[in-house]
Amino acid sequence: MISDKMVSLVKNSSTIRAMFEEGKKLADIYGEENVYDFSIGNPSVEPPIEVKEAILDIITNESPNLVHGYMNNSGYEDVRAVIAKHINTVQGTAFTSENIVMTVGAAGGLNVIFKALLNQGDEVITFTPYFGEYRFYVSNYDGILVEVSPNKEDFQPNLSEFKEKITAKTKAVIVNTPNNPTGVVYSEETICELAKILEDKQKEFGTSIYLISDEPYRELVYDGIEVPYLTKYYKNTVVGYSYSKSLSLPGERIGYLVLPSEMDDFENVSAATNVANRILGYVNAPSLMQRVIARCVDAKVDVEIYNRNREVLYNNLTAFGYRCIKPQGAFYLFVEALGGDDIAFSNAAKKHNILIVPGSSFGCPGYCRISYCVDYSKVTGALEGFEKLAKEYQ
Ligand code: PLP
Repeated sequence: MISDKMVSLVKNSSTIRAMFEEGKKLADIYGEENVYDFSIGNPSVEPPIEVKEAILDIITNESPNLVHGYMNNSGYEDVRAVIAKHINTVQGTAFTSENIVMTVGAAGGLNVIFKALLNQGDEVITFTPYFGEYRFYVSNYDGILVEVSPNKEDFQPNLSEFKEKITAKTKAVIVNTPNNPTGVVYSEETICELAKILEDKQKEFGTSIYLISDEPYRELVYDGIEVPYLTKYYKNTVVGYSYSKSLSLPGERIGYLVLPSEMDDFENVSAATNVANRILGYVNAPSLMQRVIARCVDAKVDVEIYNRNREVLYNNLTAFGYRCIKPQGAFYLFVEALGGDDIAFSNAAKKHNILIVPGSSFGCPGYCRISYCVDYSKVTGALEGFEKLAKEYQ
């Protein structure tokens, strides 16, 4: 028998993953070319050529012991130094290898920091809509995820409700910008206000509240928009970064945490993340990928490919009568569910072989997420179905 906790987790397992499997079944029936799967955030753009060249060169020319061996649980010192230097160059910060912990993607990083920080019953606040996996990552360490309701005008965080939800039990706040599922980038004004609220509440309760910035989409932005670097606004910030999307390497499981030296209890938090990486069973982030990243910190995927999908989808869907905010980053469009019921609407879309994810999965019913990290032909091919679907609701 499996554990009681796992029984309910398995039962409520990811809708997105279920959709992905369903897409494969539909493809078997109707042919892959006739199914438009916008369910999962699996990058369609190839990794930059530098990644392939680095892999080949490293496995050919570097010492196998170095490439495939164990190392410090926080990762190779030289790799962490290269990443720190890269962040400093781009952001004007002053990090060293001591501030970087290599992780098994963003998911690994979030689990490590929650393991390091949370006591049973500690609260972690997040803003709806949010990446649904946060529920599991927080509950893994017996924390409680507290949701702040959405600000549906522009999907910037609802700060007045946020202020009210902070308590003496609030240990962390998790934000994700550019956002999955809305594609919204939180503005500098929002970040300044959020930081001010946290400073005030820390004083009020005499606590440390850590701001966790989950940012796998930092590099995927459009129209030259700037994404504020949160450590510059609030000292108790932990950045969780991943190369899953920025270098199209989701299966390789590589990312890092940034722990600024100025944060409260830095030495202990740093030591705890090192131990958490080990005892959660990750042991360390994949060694070959760490070495690859050290050579590819400046590499970029071609964001223009996603931008073309974004423009075509946004322009056509709004012309068909769908309502959504034009995404500023990531590769998701969050549309209002026609008829108001997101589950009914995503089922109606399925009849046109279009797979989209109900907003309920992101704590925001009444909307659906369209993941446009797909081939351009899938975007153009789905337009007819989207138009017919809209007409069914007129
Ligand atoms: N956080 C957000 C907001 C995501 O969208 C994802 C993946 O889609 C993750 C974290 C997990 O990323 P990784 O593959 O790096 O674990």
